[in-house]
Amino acid sequence: MADVQMADAETFAFQAEINQLLSLIINTFYSNKEIFLRELISNASDALDKIRFESLTDKSKLDAQPELFIRLVPDKVNKTLSIIDSGIGMTKADLVNNLGTIARSGTKEFMEALQAGADVSMIGQFGVGFYSAYLVAEKVIVTSKHNDDEQYIWESQAGGSFTVTRDVNGEPLGRGTKMTLYLKEDQLEYLEERRIKDLVEKHSEFISYPIYLWTEKTTEKEISDDEDDEPKKEEEGDIEDVDEEKETKSKKKKIKEVSHEWQLINKQKPIWLRKPEEITKEEYASFYKSLTNDWEDHLAVKHFSVEGQLEFKAILFVPKRAPFDLFDTRKKMNNIKLYVRRVFIMDNCEELIPECLGFVKGVVDSDDLPLNISRETLQQNKILKVIRKNLVKKCIEMFNEIAENKEDYNKFYEAFSKNLKLGVHEDSQNRAKLADLLRYHSTKSGDELASLKDYVTKMKEGQKDIYYITGESKKAVENSPFLEKLKKKGYEVLFMVDAIDEYAVGQMKEYDGKKLVSATKEGLKLEDESEEEKRKKEEKKKSFEDLCKTMKDILGDKVEKVVVSDRIVDSPCCLVTGEYGWSANMERIMKAQALRDSSMSSYMSSKKTMEINPDNGIMEELRKRAEADKNDKSVKDLVLLLFETALLTSGFSLDDPNTFGARIHRMLKLGLSIDEDETGGDDADMPALEECDAEASKMEEVD
Ligand code: ADP
Ligand code: MG
Repeated sequence: MADVQMADAETFAFQAEINQLLSLIINTFYSNKEIFLRELISNASDALDKIRFESLTDKSKLDAQPELFIRLVPDKVNKTLSIIDSGIGMTKADLVNNLGTIARSGTKEFMEALQAGADVSMIGQFGVGFYSAYLVAEKVIVTSKHNDDEQYIWESQAGGSFTVTRDVNGEPLGRGTKMTLYLKEDQLEYLEERRIKDLVEKHSEFISYPIYLWTEKTTEKEISDDEDDEPKKEEEGDIEDVDEEKETKSKKKKIKEVSHEWQLINKQKPIWLRKPEEITKEEYASFYKSLTNDWEDHLAVKHFSVEGQLEFKAILFVPKRAPFDLFDTRKKMNNIKLYVRRVFIMDNCEELIPECLGFVKGVVDSDDLPLNISRETLQQNKILKVIRKNLVKKCIEMFNEIAENKEDYNKFYEAFSKNLKLGVHEDSQNRAKLADLLRYHSTKSGDELASLKDYVTKMKEGQKDIYYITGESKKAVENSPFLEKLKKKGYEVLFMVDAIDEYAVGQMKEYDGKKLVSATKEGLKLEDESEEEKRKKEEKKKSFEDLCKTMKDILGDKVEKVVVSDRIVDSPCCLVTGEYGWSANMERIMKAQALRDSSMSSYMSSKKTMEINPDNGIMEELRKRAEADKNDKSVKDLVLLLFETALLTSGFSLDDPNTFGARIHRMLKLGLSIDEDETGGDDADMPALEECDAEASKMEEVD
């Protein structure tokens, strides 16, 4: 819309979510408003990083403004605070897109976090730090000059819209951005030098560009009365003071002269160049916060340098929590900043650290890489490969250090165990070391978590393998029939109840020379105590051979085979899957993945073997009945019911719960001695059991 005063001002509406965010920022009371300055300085620093990086390959990019700086200008007269940088600047399109029309993925998440009681200082983590300006300002004017465009002015008092205007008469920036905040009446403290200096020291200590503050300096000067109204000199300060002077020093009087100058208010010596012994925990914490925008301290830090053929320094941090978008596949996580001889080269250098360690944050400063390295040449770079290897090694060291403190490790493990497991899955070189970091609940661990090392040291005499069971939750597996024999023998079984455990354990295969064996798959062989027992068992097995055959005939394609079990003690039967196919749990996971490749499921999906327990009363009774009459209806009925129940207790799902329900109801009636013919009401249209089976087998044919 054209405006009368500004002929070429264009008005834009804020994108809906951004607009909501702005209202929230403006209308909610937050005590921690000061963080706006950190956010704006951080943006200035990012913009400077960008132009410096571009200039590495094309020096002329700096021509318009060779100096790289951040300047802060408080203006008490106009009640404005300006943050000026000579960074990359924004084109008109950048202003429109980045400051109002394109919402970041974090916008909504941040609002949700705020409403859930999060602190406003978290704003930077969600990628919407710019809007924090409205914590203290009623109006913001952004003037920006990018090498590829003219100078433009962005202006908004929030309220749904902003304008962008070509800056025709304004002072040219050369290159960069000036953010002018028109402070709210109750926020004028941000015009005070002391306050600004303290804030910079507190929140922006590690900015690697000089931050200058436009300061006012007052010097006292003696003048004679007639010099009084000399121009450019302001009379300031305490009038009483001046009167006193007048009394003592008759005709002379003192006036205060005000001058302005740029004062450098940050140190800029990179912390990683300093000796670790000389750096306090607080210094690491504030460096960590400035690096990551985190509002909490780090959980662990590793500061080291590598010397010799290749030299680099690095500081790595583990955060206390996982970020909100840890496994957001749209966004490649990587949080290592790469520097070459003190010069920032890039964020998110993928080649520096494997994806599974994407949650580790930090900086790497190499002495060997060329300054003008490009993203394309990074991939083949040998130096980078060596750095990466070292970083992984140091990360694992750091995790092991965290493990020395149980409480810390629990926190760490809760946040990042998925990453470790992903590492076990993907990184064959470090698999063994990463496996040491895994922890599981087990049949013996109680509320604690057990490591594989703990497991191995506690193994019973004669126990050769490490046993585990996978499933949906601890609750779902801890009383599983699969564990009966293992428990009875006193063997510990690890509960692997994370979806990713299935993948990780599939790659791990063994630990410390011991095979990892699934309690729910074929191939679980438990040695018997004595020859005598073995012989007895063989005998029993033989006596159940016929029943196994009968059951297989009844179940048909539902199972591969029916065998006498070695692993159950109490339950009548269970369903195990092939050693190399999917477990019940994996089948569940794969079914839940909407976009899975369906061709996979046909050959991976569980080939089930029914294992029966010859010591169980139900089985014994079934054996007798089947022996008497193979075609006894109740035998068929029982076998199907046992199968369906075993599906459930073994972690599978029922394809047809209704038939199962009908079967149960029929059994209930038998148990309650209700005659089938007498029933009416609810059960009137329930099919008789044989009909059910007929229907079920019809469906099977279709399958
Ligand atoms: P983030 O810094 O996480 O990207 P912000 O909300 O702080 O999110 O900033 C949004 C975007 O606006 C930045 O990504 C950048 O493109 C642009 N921007 C903000 N401040 C500046 C600046 N001083 N110079 C250049 N671009 C800027
Ligand atoms: Mg920012």
